[in-house]
This record gives sequence, structure tokens and C-alpha cells, in this order.
Amino acid sequence: MMVGSRRTLQDLAGKRFGRLVVSAFAGRSGKHSLWRCRCDCGVEKAIDATNLTSGAIRSCGCLRREALSKRSQTHGLCETPEYGAWCNLIQRCYNQKHSRYADYGGRGIRVCQRWLDSFEAFYADMGHRPTEGHSIDRYPDNDGNYEPGNCRWATASQQNSNQRRRQSTGAHSDPAKPFLGPRRSKEAGRGRNEY
Ligand SMILES: [Zn+2]
Repeated sequence: MMVGSRRTLQDLAGKRFGRLVVSAFAGRSGKHSLWRCRCDCGVEKAIDATNLTSGAIRSCGCLRREALSKRSQTHGLCETPEYGAWCNLIQRCYNQKHSRYADYGGRGIRVCQRWLDSFEAFYADMGHRPTEGHSIDRYPDNDGNYEPGNCRWATASQQNSNQRRRQSTGAHSDPAKPFLGPRRSKEAGRGRNEY
């Protein structure tokens, strides 16, 4: 059995560690023995043997990048009602295929550049939605744009009193209500006394 400084030179060539396959010994760096590895994604990299055998490193870094990007897609701000409201008002004004486009973008209502550029700016200006019963209302000018100074979180009854008179289109009467999907059961019942 080898002892001393040669002890760690274990032959790893050909072995697989996660996504990494070791191709050849790549030299020593201080106490570390480095092995050239090829990741399944194609990247080659020299990695310390102890990080391979301990399981600390299992890819060139791509595993971690994938996990992070998956997390930012499924968590973060996209699930908040404020983000839903922001997405929805932009859609109503700029997406000609949106079911309510005719009542918004179609009649010239726009979203200010500051809010178009940034959900964070919208959130900084409008703040947290007070209750589930509130949605973004253009007020005081119902024919005006979505912009700071002409928007508020309002209840359905506040909005009804602010609504423009509809011609006899028979359209339903809640133009500024954002679509936020089915109500979440944990919030059911909340808000009734908070108007
Ligand atoms: Zn990789």
C-alpha cells in the first residue's frame, strides 16, 4: 500500500461522478490531484479528486444553473396577485388577441413606460393589493391611462361607480377586474369585512 504524498493518487480515469466522466489525470495543485472531466453537457474541466469522490461536485456547474433557473420560473413574483394584475393590464392594452382588448387598447388606453418596463416599478407605486376584492381601477379618469396618479386598488363597487357608460354592447360590467384564476381556498372568506 502506498503511503505519504502518493497516497491520494487513486486512478479515477473512466469513472463517472454524476454528469462527469473522468478522462485523465491533470496534475497536482498543492495537496490536490486534479482530474480532467467531461460533463454530459460537453464542458471539460479539471476537478479535484476529493470533490469527485465525496460527491461535492457532480457536474461542470450546469446542474446548479438548471436548478436555479427552474426555481425562478416557478417561484418568485409571478404567483402574486399584484404581478397577475400587472400582467393583465398590459395584456388588455397591448395584446390584440386579449378578450378585453377592445375596451382597453382598442379605445386608446395605454400603460405608462415606467410600468411597461418594470413590474417592480408598478409594485413600488401601487403597493400591495389590500384584499382579494380589490383590483386596479383607472381613477379619477376612467378614459385615462394606467399610470401613477390615475390608478388605485378599488373594490368592485367603487369601480362600478367610476365606470364609463357602456353602449348597448351587453358587455359585462367589470372592465378593470384582472383575471387572477380561481380563488385560493386559503383566502376564501377573507376580505368580506375589509371593504
Ligand atoms: Zn455540464
